[in-house]
Amino acid sequence: RASRYQPPYVNHSQDPLYHSGNSYNRENATFVTLCRNEDLYSIIQSIKKVEDRFNNKFAYDWVFLNEVPFTDEFKERTSVLISGQAKYGLIPKEHWSYPDYIDQERAAESRRQLEDQHVVYGGLESYRHMCRFNSGFFYKHPLMLDYRYYWRVEPEIEILCDVETDLFRYMRENNKTYGFTISIHEFEKTIPTLWETTKEFMKQNPSYIAENNLMNFISDDNGKTYNLCHFWSNFEVADMDFWRSDVYEKYFKFLDDTGKFFYERWGDAPVHSLAVSLFLPKEKVHFFNEVGYKHSVYSMCPIDKDIWKNRKCYCDPNTDFTFRGYSCGRQYYKATGLTRPSNWKDYD
Ligand code: GDP
Ligand code: MN
Repeated sequence: RASRYQPPYVNHSQDPLYHSGNSYNRENATFVTLCRNEDLYSIIQSIKKVEDRFNNKFAYDWVFLNEVPFTDEFKERTSVLISGQAKYGLIPKEHWSYPDYIDQERAAESRRQLEDQHVVYGGLESYRHMCRFNSGFFYKHPLMLDYRYYWRVEPEIEILCDVETDLFRYMRENNKTYGFTISIHEFEKTIPTLWETTKEFMKQNPSYIAENNLMNFISDDNGKTYNLCHFWSNFEVADMDFWRSDVYEKYFKFLDDTGKFFYERWGDAPVHSLAVSLFLPKEKVHFFNEVGYKHSVYSMCPIDKDIWKNRKCYCDPNTDFTFRGYSCGRQYYKATGLTRPSNWKDYD
């Protein structure tokens, strides 16, 4: 039996996009994790799962980012698990602090109010910096500038099927920009004016709106209101050329200028998702329906029998979130016109 580290993974393409000097010609891509030193033991569990199910075949690099320096212990205990190169970056102050136009009193008042209303992370300053960083800055970090594609990994995730193909290669070869596994509704109290702000941006920049976009994923009434659907950004495989484009740069700046990453509690997931759904044609978005994935209480577990057989999924399809009420899988299938698995009704 041939070793799994041999063909079909070896590719002798001369495409300059590929790195050279190794048996597998990797894409221009990396894993990326934002976390704290205290997350060490939960992130190494995630790393081990990603390595065992995917990365030991490909040896992609892994970039870790933090607003304080990583400890030697963190670096040592993570790097030994990673088959590619592990890199550790400090986030520059200007990517993790208040812009000078922020009214501190107003920001503090918002935190008190959301805390009183028991909104998750409503009272946390750090969570707001995190969301703003993931919305507008992670792809500008010097360590990330070497790469085009990334796969975001958080502490406490699981990969529930064998991932035999190179997802980064899939993205490039199929001209995809954004890939996800789970979609879900946002808590309205965290983004009361995000849609209004986005509509204003669209009004000022109508040429940015893609034809054949995913408006019907994010709105049930042709754009009048936001239905709160978004791609769950703790898993993302995406092309940073999009975040680095003029369109997204302008959109992020427009949002950031309102101060509402701080005056409300705008999440990076709805921000990414609105941009992807409005400024890209729908065929640039991909649902990785064969990558079993779990984060906290939600799972994507393939319900299609061929998939769970071929991919050796070890999750219970009854835990699949895709067609449950709080998920946005139905909206996604409706907006794309893709065919749902024939047995989807057994899992709604
Ligand atoms: P949730 O998924 O919305 O519940 O939020 P998480 O607590 O999982 O945070 C999202 C990501 O940001 C995770 O990768 C966390 O490790 C990371 N994160 C959250 N807050 C901070 C922070 O203050 N500093 C750093 N360095 N990472 C953070
Ligand atoms: Mn999380």
